[in-house]
Amino acid sequence: MSINRRDFLKIAGAAAAGSVITGALTSCKKPDVEAESVFYSTQKPDLSKYDKYYFVQVNADKCQKCGTCRKHCPTGIINGSETEPYKVLDNAGCVFCGQCLINCPYGAIDEKVSFIDEIFKAAKDADKVVVAMPAPSVRYSLGEPFGMKPGTHVGGKMDAALRKLGFDIIWDNQFGADLTIMEEGTELIGRITKNENPLPQFTSCCPAWVKFVESFYPELIPNLSTSKSPIGMIAPMAKTYGAANRKVDPAKMYTVGIFPCIAKKFECMRPEMNSSGFQDTDASIDTRELAYMIKKRGIDFLSLNDERPDSLLGESTGAGTIFGVNGGVMEAALRFAYEAVSGQKLNAVDFTAVRGMDGVRSASVKIPNGPEVKVCVIAGLKNAKPVIDEVKAGKSPYHFIEVMTCPGGCVNGGGQPLDPEDRLVENFFGKNPLAGS
Ligand code: SF4
Ligand code: SF4
Repeated sequence: MSINRRDFLKIAGAAAAGSVITGALTSCKKPDVEAESVFYSTQKPDLSKYDKYYFVQVNADKCQKCGTCRKHCPTGIINGSETEPYKVLDNAGCVFCGQCLINCPYGAIDEKVSFIDEIFKAAKDADKVVVAMPAPSVRYSLGEPFGMKPGTHVGGKMDAALRKLGFDIIWDNQFGADLTIMEEGTELIGRITKNENPLPQFTSCCPAWVKFVESFYPELIPNLSTSKSPIGMIAPMAKTYGAANRKVDPAKMYTVGIFPCIAKKFECMRPEMNSSGFQDTDASIDTRELAYMIKKRGIDFLSLNDERPDSLLGESTGAGTIFGVNGGVMEAALRFAYEAVSGQKLNAVDFTAVRGMDGVRSASVKIPNGPEVKVCVIAGLKNAKPVIDEVKAGKSPYHFIEVMTCPGGCVNGGGQPLDPEDRLVENFFGKNPLAGS
């Protein structure tokens, strides 16, 4: 029996995060047309006008009007009928998660913002120092477009490929994840013990979830953790601490985030992400695009010897790695808070399903010499509404709630490879579409 990536994620995620993976996951079927399923723009997006962009849109010519995209859309902003092609109706209501794209059985939904050409140009520019900042989940899925088994760890090959693509420095976004955990855990202690901000504290590292709160529940913005996401931390670190350490002019540093996610492009383009004094992240790509770039440059991925990220901002812990699955962010931050308050190690967090709420699991953790902390993990934004409504009504029993938009977390993000059996890069872009680059 073969196993596809999503089945694998259910198994791997359940083992890694205490069985928190639920939600309706369906397999992609082989698309009718494979060669041009994703649109890669050659235009550099205008960073000051990010709110004008549709990050995804339906290609009306390919749409078979099946309605699968609408079933997976957490906001209901994509709509059509048996006679009208589906369409993302309003940019404001779309959270850019790309769940419509990865679940479309016909490859009829296109990504609309891409930095690929700009990154290729920067990599050739001798005046620029190009920095790669890959997110935790990318290294577990990048092998799929090259025929490797879903879930294979290819971090070493990924680092080798990035250097061959012309990246000068690799600073691992897992380092950023560790920083986010420490900030978020410290903030949780402050909220619980000093009433510094309202409870419950929501995680804030998923940009689609943040946009959802901003658009649909703005009154709950104070409940979002004030901690920046991993890329929100490591990118300004790169252009300040990292640049100073490597004696690089930060104006010449070109930082590239690599994500399993489409919404992260939006996050990095937000004009306020400039605490380094520059746009902190200059460009973003997703796992599919990185696979495309590796192919486009004719790099034999499978033959690459493992390499490692650069030192300084390249080291990370196991806690940073589990950011990629539902429950990982919350568990890592809770672990930090537990140890900071009690000085003791936290054993496995025992989650149980919340009755009557699909995809919602909770746990209660007594911190020695501290409070009992009630936590909740929501697997997929579609499952969040009852929990959010409880918070809005002031009836939530929880101190800390994790929401990741994609069912299962970032490992199932909208920027990940599609069905690995049907969507090898060769299939996806045509038999030999990348020759002669
Ligand atoms: S990107 Fe997400 S929110 Fe936007 S239309 Fe697609 S599924 Fe809906
Ligand atoms: S769950 Fe992860 S991949 Fe999905 S939108 Fe949020 S950050 Fe992106």
